[in-house]
Amino acid sequence: EDNLFKNVIAHAKEYGFIFPSSEIYDGLSAVYDYGQNGAELKNNLKEYWWKFMTLLHDNIVGIDAAIFMHPTTWKASGHVDAFNDPMIDNKDSKKRYRADVLIEDAIAKMEDKINKEVEKAEKRFGDAFNKETFITTNARVLEYQKKIDETNARLKDAMGNGDMAAMKQLVIDLEIADPISGTKNWTDVRQFNLMFSTEIGSLAEEANKIYLRPETAQGIFVNFLNVQKTGRMKIPFGIAQIGKAFRNEIVARQFIFRMREFEQMEMQFFIKPGEEMKWYEYWKAKRMKWHQTLGLGNENYRFHDHLNLAHYANAACDIQFNFPMGFKELEGIHSRTDFDLKNHEKYSGKKLQYFDSEENQSYIPYVVETSVGLDRLFLSVLSKSYQEEKLEDGSERVVLRIPAPLAPHKVAILPLIKRDGLPEKAEAIMNDLKYDLRCFYEEKDAIGKRYRRQDAIGTPYCITIDHQTLEDDTVTIRDRDTMKQERVKIADVKAKLIDACSI
Ligand code: ATP
Repeated sequence: EDNLFKNVIAHAKEYGFIFPSSEIYDGLSAVYDYGQNGAELKNNLKEYWWKFMTLLHDNIVGIDAAIFMHPTTWKASGHVDAFNDPMIDNKDSKKRYRADVLIEDAIAKMEDKINKEVEKAEKRFGDAFNKETFITTNARVLEYQKKIDETNARLKDAMGNGDMAAMKQLVIDLEIADPISGTKNWTDVRQFNLMFSTEIGSLAEEANKIYLRPETAQGIFVNFLNVQKTGRMKIPFGIAQIGKAFRNEIVARQFIFRMREFEQMEMQFFIKPGEEMKWYEYWKAKRMKWHQTLGLGNENYRFHDHLNLAHYANAACDIQFNFPMGFKELEGIHSRTDFDLKNHEKYSGKKLQYFDSEENQSYIPYVVETSVGLDRLFLSVLSKSYQEEKLEDGSERVVLRIPAPLAPHKVAILPLIKRDGLPEKAEAIMNDLKYDLRCFYEEKDAIGKRYRRQDAIGTPYCITIDHQTLEDDTVTIRDRDTMKQERVKIADVKAKLIDACSI
């Protein structure tokens, strides 16, 4: 798995998907640039999300707020005081970790133990096995479960109270060892604020300090009434946004999974207080379905409920994806109550209430949000599409089986050879297709080599123009996944490809 991940990263660079930022200066830690193919894939993902949110839901509109916001925004949102990660260092390896993540990993290990016990018993008892009865009576399972519940409760308390000594005690009690040094020689747990700051205007004074937004959501909250009034929106309604966010992640690793500059696609859904659980369940199901329609395999997604809730939430879960390094958070779904709007009211002194004409009363709406990291979504598609294949003739190929609607290029136009009028014919075909489908033209190298290059960037179809084309106006269409070719009339090509490449 580790090797596979390395190969994916190398492939992403070699084929113009992702480059380290400012690479000629040896890169910048946890910052990446998207290359010519990566930018196309990323744009397609954005479009897919944006259309789903704003076209398929007539009560959701999109905005594009600025990255810089009035500094009081971050006081009101709680980020100045509470957006801290508890960090711990191993004294031997000198590596720094998030203490809450170490503890959650330890909990996951205990959960694994329970699953192993269940599996073992399943084998032993065969048809007579009853899982319910087993887990409520087996002594070992009960012991693990008790420990899990206790640990979760302690973690929740420690995080809720910002009690760093209690976090450290948990690391000690769980006997967590550093994966690198193998030792349990830990420093105290300390908190780091994740926001980047800079100065606005020319004077470097504390009063001019502003932050780069650590989430896009606040741009939506502060515009809530602007949108509601100008758009004549009625509750329930949503506001969607795609944009950059910045976090000074202390433990930045795992390629584009955890970056310091990244992109979020968020939607805040404004609802009547008291209806939050209904809408929370609604968006959980909707978002899961959306991911599954991408076609990467339903078994690669699962929900993970949060037991330790962030300062703003009364219910929260993640949609996790099976990344090369295991199941990890891809999207968060949070019931944020009226936490944000209420605090913006308090700090700004401006009313942020909605007048409900049916109820004939004003209230601060509740919010359920869906928040997906665009870069993590990109990584999910890239890592699952990447496949190394052994072919029947003994040769090997690397193919990106990117779902056709998301592929950077939909079709490659390839004249078999560079003469006899084939390039001219190819150009005419391309001119007919290029306004509807992103085309890639290539005439250099043997045709087999060109097919391989298209496989490597995930182009779902190759059109080859050969001598027969000049005689009967047909071309071959090669399918990336099956590598099969079929002869098709030029007149039928466009409709066929548009059909195959639409969502
Ligand atoms: P994590 O626990 O992994 O740090 P989070 O719970 O802090 O993530 P949220 O604040 O809920 O994340 O942000 C919503 C989404 O934004 C996440 O599901 C993730 O896809 C994305 N995201 C958050 N931080 C990063 C990052 N540093 N790099 C890339 N994507 C990120």
